[in-house]
Parts: sequence; structure tokens; C-alpha cells
Amino acid sequence: MSLIEHAIASSQASEKNHDPSLAGKPAPKVAIITCMDPRMNQLLERLDIKPADADLIRNVGTVVTEDVVRSLMFSIHVLGVTEIMIVGHTGCGMEMFTDLSFEKHLQERTGKLAVTPAVFHFYTDVNDATRKQMLKLRTHPWVPANITIRGFVLNLATGKLTEVSAETVAS
Ligand SMILES: [Zn+2]
Repeated sequence: MSLIEHAIASSQASEKNHDPSLAGKPAPKVAIITCMDPRMNQLLERLDIKPADADLIRNVGTVVTEDVVRSLMFSIHVLGVTEIMIVGHTGCGMEMFTDLSFEKHLQERTGKLAVTPAVFHFYTDVNDATRKQMLKLRTHPWVPANITIRGFVLNLATGKLTEVSAETVAS
């Protein structure tokens, strides 16, 4: 059985125990931006944050893209989120290539050129990358000054969560 078939069957089995209050308006307190990496799938449990309390926004590399800002606008200005937590991690796939070498990799795999994505946001230092995402949000005109923005790196080898200072940007 494919995993999607398994998921459909599991969802159907869950229908009889469904909590209808889930249809009510969500009231998240925090927005968490993190990587799509499956090793980050247990992040809310690790941080002891209830699923109902968090808007979880994910993409490869924990990058504050235009689409992440789009989602945050809803979190902040519609749902009332007041804190943003950016959580990068060690050993991310974003350290494997450069934007140029990845574009070449895709061209070799597909035999085609493409216009977009124009950037992939590869980086060499997860701390610098996380700091950069914090500053992108801090300077965004639609992110109010009273919104808390804090960045962290989760070391997947040790499990240690380290806060990243917003002071300087090396890259
Ligand atoms: Zn990652």
C-alpha cells in the first residue's frame, strides 16, 4: 500500500472520533518558521507547544520568502500572533549546493533550462542564515515593531537549541 493510500484509510478511521470544535476560528499565539526537513517534524512536541497555539510555516532551508511573509501577514494581522520563532537546524540540505551549482544540477537532471525559481537561498552558515531571516522580518514594513522575532538553531546531533543574536549579519 502506498503511504497516501494508508493516510486516506487512517483519516477515514478517524472520522468517528473527530472533534468538531476544529472547525472554529484558530487562535495561534506564535508563528514558527522552520525547515521542511522530516527531522523537524517533532518540533512542536520538542518545544512543548500545543498544535493549536502555533502557525507552522515551513520550507526547505527556513527561508523568509515572499510567500512566508504572505502567510505571516495572516498570522499577525488576522489571527493575532504576537511572537515569531525562526528555527533553523544543523546539517540542512541548503549547505549541499550553491544557487549556481544547484541550477546546474537541475539542468543536468532534466535537460532543461527554467526561468524560476531565480534563487534557492543556499547558505554556508546556518547561524548567519537564521540571522538574515530575522532581519528580513524585522525590517519589513508590515511587521509591527511590537512583534517579537527570535531566531534559533537546533543542533540535530546534540538536540541543543541555541538562540541566534540579531546583532550582525556576515552574509
Ligand atoms: Zn533543513
